[in-house]
Amino acid sequence: MNEAVFTSFADARRAADAAMPRRRRNRPYPLASGWHWGRAVPCPECSAAEGADCAGRYHRAREDAARAAGRSADRWIVCAPSNLVLLADGTMYDHARKATVRQ
Ligand SMILES: [Zn+2]
Repeated sequence: MNEAVFTSFADARRAADAAMPRRRRNRPYPLASGWHWGRAVPCPECSAAEGADCAGRYHRAREDAARAAGRSADRWIVCAPSNLVLLADGTMYDHARKATVRQ
């Protein structure tokens, strides 16, 4: 899944505010993503690039590297109730229905 990933809360907030303009309730919102935080730095063990998955299983040493990077490793995604996530191409994806949602 190719989620839109943001390096600042403000950017994620802007994208959330712009997404699904017709929706009045259950608006999209920024969500801190630990999953993306743990991949925000290259892996010291398998050299997986920033943002990419480890080769094989996730290496815990990568979390130490992300922790050492401080706030610069913070990552946000944009979600909306229920089970919707903003993708990099600007569409909203429904995980439960496994379908793109009309904006
Ligand atoms: Zn790794």
